[in-house]
Amino acid sequence: MDMSSKKEMIFTGIPAAPGIAFGQAFVVNIDDLPVTAEPVEKNRVEDEIARLESALKQTGEELSGLHSALAAEMGEEHAKILDSHIMLIADELMKTDTIQIIRSDKVNAAYAFSRVIDKTLRAFDQMEDQYLKERAEDIRDVKKRVIRNLFGQKVEGLANLRREAVVVAHNLTPADTVGFRKKFVKAFVSDMGGSTSHAAIIARSMGIPAVVGLDEISSHVKPYDKLIVDGISGQVILHPKEDTVALYQQAQERFLEMEEELLTIKDYPAVTLDGRTIELSANIETIDEVEDIKSHGAKGVGLFRTEYFFITRGTLPGEEEQYRYYSEVVKNVAPDPVLFRTLDIGGDKIAAWVDDTQEENPFMGWRGIRFTLSRKDIFRTQLRALYRAAVFGKVRIMFPMVSVVEEVRQAMDICREVQEDLEREKYQFDHNVETGIMIETPSAVAMADVLAKEVDFFSIGSNDLVQYALAVDRGNSRISYLYSPMHPAILRFINDTARAAHDNNIWVGLCGEMVADARVRGTLLLIGLGLDEFSASAYLIPEIKKIIRSVTYDETKFMVKMALKKATATEVVELIDRFIEEKRPELKELIPKGPG
Ligand code: PEP
Ligand code: MG
Repeated sequence: MDMSSKKEMIFTGIPAAPGIAFGQAFVVNIDDLPVTAEPVEKNRVEDEIARLESALKQTGEELSGLHSALAAEMGEEHAKILDSHIMLIADELMKTDTIQIIRSDKVNAAYAFSRVIDKTLRAFDQMEDQYLKERAEDIRDVKKRVIRNLFGQKVEGLANLRREAVVVAHNLTPADTVGFRKKFVKAFVSDMGGSTSHAAIIARSMGIPAVVGLDEISSHVKPYDKLIVDGISGQVILHPKEDTVALYQQAQERFLEMEEELLTIKDYPAVTLDGRTIELSANIETIDEVEDIKSHGAKGVGLFRTEYFFITRGTLPGEEEQYRYYSEVVKNVAPDPVLFRTLDIGGDKIAAWVDDTQEENPFMGWRGIRFTLSRKDIFRTQLRALYRAAVFGKVRIMFPMVSVVEEVRQAMDICREVQEDLEREKYQFDHNVETGIMIETPSAVAMADVLAKEVDFFSIGSNDLVQYALAVDRGNSRISYLYSPMHPAILRFINDTARAAHDNNIWVGLCGEMVADARVRGTLLLIGLGLDEFSASAYLIPEIKKIIRSVTYDETKFMVKMALKKATATEVVELIDRFIEEKRPELKELIPKGPG
């Protein structure tokens, strides 16, 4: 099939991880693949028939395998539900009808097969009988299986990915994304999602370009279709023309050159022109990312999302397993610190071993510290492993999703008890681990002066803070226009938090995606807001360093003062763009742009 004959299509979504990638699609969880008529050359007709026969054979084997597995697990009686599928796939008439269409109309097997099946289904749809209606469902299922096999892709999805590809999905869970093999996944695109949904965050950490919130791309793309993914502007091009490919190749070159140039300053200090130093650390989810911290010049880890260790396992990891894992991370990052956040399960991060996770409103539900305080066994085990691992370097511990002060007090009590237990049991552990909380709910901001007296530090979680403060689901592309860390409401919240922290002599950082999402503009504001530490995906560290080293704290402080008085996010963006234009034009080149 000649790809170049297909019409180029452009989809626009939300840029989720920068970079430009070219590749062939791997479509995940395909339910109803769009089947269109493709002409088949006269001399390829017999090949097409052979493809059909092999797909039917493969489907038959798949179904028999399923039948045996079901019979072994549930008994022969249950396996009977597959009998009609198996009979259907062996139906000679269906096969000869399909072959006849391929021969006479010179069309692809998938289309010919769909025509035969759809005709049968239309007949079934006329019938009232419940039994026959169920048989119609069986026919639909067989159709999907055969068509998937014709496209050369098995049902299981991502686990089968063994070639370089652009992953296309309706939606991806954090667990899907963390399982990506970087070697194969060149980019990913999805119908759902926002720039701070966890799948996007993982793509950023892995340096894989991504575009989310594309609405319906997964229903247009078929396996092996050619795609360009522009994670900078948020455009995805299906069946790109030659000159489009050339244009994006140039954009990719520019992007890579810029990244390379930024890397040359990775080991310089993160200090403003007037001498204010900001600690720059990295957000990571797995031990595999430790290398990236060093290669990008981050000073340790400012957010280790420990929940990924839990959600990628079918069972709950015990103390020794966690201890070994955390120790490895601490040793590899030492002498720089690792800030471990205790389990932030819930929301979109679901672990297979937690029962009862069905909630009407998971982001407002059993999440973060609420979960660990109601499952103290899990909490204590994790804390024990962390205190023990801390002897290998410098560890900080942080609690997520705090909304009331009692949660912090309870958590601190548990930390004390855990340390007493370890002492009594004669374990080696670090007695001086700093303990802090995330500020990511509006109530935590309002109570920041009280909370600051309970802990050693704050780290602002802008991803959730924006979601809860503006009442906008961080993963919902439909209302993503409201999701803005540049909104004056958010800036006021950060400003209040920083002031409460400093009045109480504790340090305050930010580990949300505000610097990644709002890039140069977000970073400039955060410098002026007086934060002591930023933690972001490792690949962003050189860029943030460059921004910090290009401005004075004083001028950004002045800009923040004006931004806090603005009425809208757009006005804030305009203010910053004017600042860049007039005062620091060299920063303009860092604002992400697409091709052209
Ligand atoms: C945040 O909410 O900003 C944050 C860093 O935590 P997460 O993205 O894991 O919810
Ligand atoms: Mg959060």
